Amino acid sequence: MGEIKGFVKYKRKNLAKENVNKRLTHWKEFIKPLSKKDAKTQGARCMDCGTPFCQYGCPINNIIPDWNDLVYKEDYEEAYKRLSLTNNFPEFTSRVCPAPCENSCVLEITNPPVAIKNIERAIIENAFKNNYVRSKTITNRTGKKVAIVGSGPAGLACADELNKAKHEVTVYEKNELPGGLLTFGIPEFKLEKRIVQRRIKILQEEGIIFKTNVEIGKDILLSKLLDEFDAVVLSGGAENPRDLNVEGRELEGIHFAMDFLTQQNRRLLGLEINGKPIYAKNKNVVVIGGGDTGSDCIGTANRQGAKSVTSLELMPQLPKQRRKENPWPQWAFIDRTSTSHEEGCKKYFGVLTKKITGKNGNVKKLHLVNVEFVKENGNRIIKEVKGTDFTVDADLVLLAMGFLGPRKNKLLTELNIVLDERGNIKTDRNNMTNISGLFAAGDMRRGQSLVVWAIHEGRKAAANINKYLLKQ
Ligand SMILES: Cc1cc2nc3c(=O)[nH]c(=O)nc-3n(C[C@H](O)[C@H](O)[C@H](O)COP(=O)(O)OP(=O)(O)OC[C@H]3O[C@@H](n4cnc5c(N)ncnc54)[C@H](O)[C@@H]3O)c2cc1C
Ligand code: SF4
Repeated sequence: MGEIKGFVKYKRKNLAKENVNKRLTHWKEFIKPLSKKDAKTQGARCMDCGTPFCQYGCPINNIIPDWNDLVYKEDYEEAYKRLSLTNNFPEFTSRVCPAPCENSCVLEITNPPVAIKNIERAIIENAFKNNYVRSKTITNRTGKKVAIVGSGPAGLACADELNKAKHEVTVYEKNELPGGLLTFGIPEFKLEKRIVQRRIKILQEEGIIFKTNVEIGKDILLSKLLDEFDAVVLSGGAENPRDLNVEGRELEGIHFAMDFLTQQNRRLLGLEINGKPIYAKNKNVVVIGGGDTGSDCIGTANRQGAKSVTSLELMPQLPKQRRKENPWPQWAFIDRTSTSHEEGCKKYFGVLTKKITGKNGNVKKLHLVNVEFVKENGNRIIKEVKGTDFTVDADLVLLAMGFLGPRKNKLLTELNIVLDERGNIKTDRNNMTNISGLFAAGDMRRGQSLVVWAIHEGRKAAANINKYLLKQ
């Protein structure tokens, strides 16, 4: 523990942000990292609790008290070593993780928690700057070959671990570039693509082979991969979006959020746009779904110059403070304002879209009603509130209502891969599917989740595959 009364002496410091008007003029990240001086005092706030609940709250169990102390002592090289023991890609999590660790920090019981995520970012960016993050030469390979299908954070973490275990790893990706949602989903203003490419370059230098523009199940059959490799991992994400089945859904101008977000990332990467351009300039944009994806649509629409942006959420607004049935150290279900919300949008909670109407085939209005959640016969059901019908103008509607597991295409049907009751790939506790030697990880197995959970999934699958290969 750096400073005995650090948590009394120093206040939590959040990262500075560029002001809204300025950041809306560009696509780059707008968060200013902590200076070394600030990182030191923030590290000093850690109480080095005997039982570090932050570590329990972090899905990859980062050894947080250790690196808080090392940052306080300004030993960034050792802090990086400690961080990279548990996290393959701190540069991603320290930008986009919702930081469940901070909700579990003991200080959070009475004070703002330790700024764990910001300290993590200071460590990893310092490590890159000082060349501590370098590709290593891997020798004495085992001769075992593993194929990974999908290059999102789950596939990349799995590839990194198996490569370090000296197996020969090939990653197949259907897009032109690796990274999964890190590259094509999450907007540039939250995670610049040069950060993703910086890591991919290191993985390539360390010997991982990336085969892009190859869709398994279409360009190469899964059965062929299983013949050629000693183990195969499916980490293709949860790409099946939830649709809105209401009258008027067929009108022009209604799109899945991912089509809109992917197009903008492709534009910025200088890649060709697939299909008709979806662009928000001078449009009344309505985003249905109040989660992360919806928030990313709001930030993107505002940067494209939307006339207005409205966010609709079916669930009621969460409270500002934890409810007593949601105590520390659990993840706090509270109302959060994302940086994209700050940039401007009108928010409605507890609203249901009843139908959509248009003119000349184009979307014009959403017909909405307020709803409440009531208990009937022990079940929680949605009930319309009589007399609360209203409309919202819309020229572009973005559907961001979550995902229903992986697409059910030939990748899954060729060999009859068994799914669980939620439509995700079913595995045993060792990540193995119903087919011997075929493993699954990430959103494809877990369902739509977080980058940090995808890293956890990839690491766990790799450990299980390593055991499996060593027994062969
Ligand atoms: C818009 C959006 C914003 C998000 N923002 C955040 C955030 O801020 N913070 C956070 O923690 N989480 C966020 N998430 C969630 C997070 O991105 C995912 O949980 C995570 O990326 C899942 O990782 P994955 O590796 O399992 O899958 P993915 O990242 O989805 O990667 C799967 C990859 O597999 C490829 N693939 C699929 N099928 C095949 C095939 N047959 N052959 C070859 N390749 C294939 C896909 O092209 C894709 O590249 C967000 C999600 C979305 C949609
Ligand atoms: S990965 Fe996420 S949960 Fe873990 S320490 Fe970093 S910010 Fe916290």
